[in-house]
Amino acid sequence: MFNVEHIRQDFPILHRQVNGKPLVYLDNAATSQTPQAVIDAIVDYYSNYNANIHRGVHSLSQEATDAYEEARIKIQHHFNAKFSHEIIFTSGTTHGINLVANGFSSLLKKGDEIIVSALEHHSNIVPWQMLCERSGATLKVIPMNLEGELIMSEYDKLLSAHTKLVFVNHISNALGTINPIKYIIDEAHKVGAAVLIDGAQSCPHIKPDVQALDVDFYVTSAHKMCGPTGEGMLYGKEDWLNKLPPYQGGGEMIDQVTFEKTTYAGLPHKFEAGTPNICGGIAFGAAIDYMNGIGFDAIADYEHELLEYATAKLSEIEGLKIYGTSKQKTSVVSFNLEGIHPYDVGTILDKLGIAVRTGHHCAQPIMDFYKIPGTVRASFAFYNTKEEVDTLVTGVKKAKMMLS
Ligand code: PMP
Repeated sequence: MFNVEHIRQDFPILHRQVNGKPLVYLDNAATSQTPQAVIDAIVDYYSNYNANIHRGVHSLSQEATDAYEEARIKIQHHFNAKFSHEIIFTSGTTHGINLVANGFSSLLKKGDEIIVSALEHHSNIVPWQMLCERSGATLKVIPMNLEGELIMSEYDKLLSAHTKLVFVNHISNALGTINPIKYIIDEAHKVGAAVLIDGAQSCPHIKPDVQALDVDFYVTSAHKMCGPTGEGMLYGKEDWLNKLPPYQGGGEMIDQVTFEKTTYAGLPHKFEAGTPNICGGIAFGAAIDYMNGIGFDAIADYEHELLEYATAKLSEIEGLKIYGTSKQKTSVVSFNLEGIHPYDVGTILDKLGIAVRTGHHCAQPIMDFYKIPGTVRASFAFYNTKEEVDTLVTGVKKAKMMLS
């Protein structure tokens, strides 16, 4: 039974004050908060079995290796990957995307096309632009409509025999739109293109099944889903990961090294050069256990309630405009007050202990589309409450009064 008051007890930070007021943390799309179970996993690692992995014969190294590899298997099961070696530990979504983009440099040529969407985070735009510069391929963009949805009829027109790759986020960080990724994947496959889905914003809300999606690559960051920063995962189909060259050279990723020639380790180690964020991987596993303990169906139902409540309450404020009004949407409300800069609203909310995001949210093309400098973004997690939404609404009204 979902009980938000019980859940809040798991998060020490939710009990602190900011500027003399109880913290109302509504910046979950930027990073989520950390439950005690994950903090305990981190403390346990550094207190009891901190050691380098994979190469030590001593017991601590073995314990650390076992815990790290168990975490990989937890992640495999969570995302329903066929093999654990299809899960590559990364430092986060950005790392995963760059790893794939770099790998495709040698597989693309002039005349090839890659498709991104108008709803992307900069980390799912810039690496592909850099890939185009290196390979001579051309970048095409699926346009969006005023509701903040991708226009699928335009996507259909962009697909052709030239399309080699398609990259779309599962959920937009700036607007919360849930994109029709199954359709996007299936249509891309019909023309022989590979698909990478950026799951940074979906994984806190949804449990993606990479086999059911038939997606080629799926990336996410642990810190968006109650885990630590600097940790994430890239899922890739075995065939694709075998085809892509290594991203970085170094220890751990080799089979044999001589000055004449080096041969590479098999999956997943081929993509994991150097000492990884061992504790981060273990804590990522703990975060997945924690979230599954609450249950993704319960999380989605509760967050939907929060979204509807917040949307209705904020919409009552005269002069407040919400960006991203798709019915397929997760718990993000991006808005502006008429004639008032989002940064000013955010500053006043902070004085009231309310943490929201203001600015372009690393998605400048979306802001350009709406011809605005940015938005105020309140993003809700399963540990937020309706009372916190009320505090936000009161704060926004106050900001409006002070700044009008
Ligand atoms: N893609 C999306 C949709 C995101 O929201 C974010 C984080 N804001 C990223 C990519 C980048 O994630 P990270 O900074 O953890 O690499």
